[in-house]
Amino acid sequence: PLDKNELGRSTWKLLHTIAATYSDEPSHEDQSNMEQFIRLIPKVYPCEVCANDFSEILTYHPPNISSQKSFAKWMCEVHNMVNRKLEKPLFDCSKVNERWRDGWAD
Ligand code: FAD
Repeated sequence: PLDKNELGRSTWKLLHTIAATYSDEPSHEDQSNMEQFIRLIPKVYPCEVCANDFSEILTYHPPNISSQKSFAKWMCEVHNMVNRKLEKPLFDCSKVNERWRDGWAD
């Protein structure tokens, strides 16, 4: 059966890892692919309330796919919007590459 929390953890891992490995200088095709990928999530994500809220988030916080740094920051910010809704602690987005790309310093 579908566990919304387990699905969420796995999905965020996938999304932050994709953002961590996105190009520093994305081509038009890279940017177009990523924009489409993000905009398809609410259409296919198998948790209806999550998908609806994410769709709304995308309307007022559209994906920034211009570089690795800005895309990773954007992903962190939208994850924080979900965290805020669920009353979870907010993540310090200055540390997002440390968490998902480079590994923690300590
Ligand atoms: P998660 O929020 O899953 O985070 C996993 C790990 O990511 C954390 O341990 C932390 O190390 C890191 N992290 C946390 N915040 C950030 C950040 N801002 N940036 C980078 N890394 C971070 N659940 C619902 O109940 N209702 C919803 O409406 C809902 N909507 C969702 C929408 C989407 C698009 C997704 C992907 C998930 C949604 N979820 C929703 C699931 C929810 O976000 C969590 O995944 C779930 O509650 C499990 O939370 P968690 O505490 O294990 O950590």
